[in-house]
Amino acid sequence: MMELCKSFQFEAAHRLPNVVPGHKCGRLHGHSFVAEIVVRGPVDPHFGWVMDYAEIKAAFRPLYEQLDHNYLNELPGLENPTSEHVARWIWAHLQPRLPLLVEVRVAETCTAKCVYRGET
Ligand SMILES: [Zn+2]
Repeated sequence: MMELCKSFQFEAAHRLPNVVPGHKCGRLHGHSFVAEIVVRGPVDPHFGWVMDYAEIKAAFRPLYEQLDHNYLNELPGLENPTSEHVARWIWAHLQPRLPLLVEVRVAETCTAKCVYRGET
């Protein structure tokens, strides 16, 4: 078994409605988000790969269209768009199209990243 990881960057605005008054994340701001999509499976003996990276890109494309250059709070299910909720939202929309999915990572900055493996 092996894992593949493909990264996608998207630019988006958000604000966190449930933080304490005065918290900086309560103000409207944006990030260059990075979503990392991890799949796990056996290496196909003929193709020599777990799957085509292009398939991961194609599966993520509809999500990218919704996320990139948008205000995340306006997306159904992302009314409180923390990294945790963005990761869970990506998982929920991506897993049906990408059965080998095992992990979604969402980074708001270079030093802060959320890791989600599908547990509720
Ligand atoms: Zn933020």
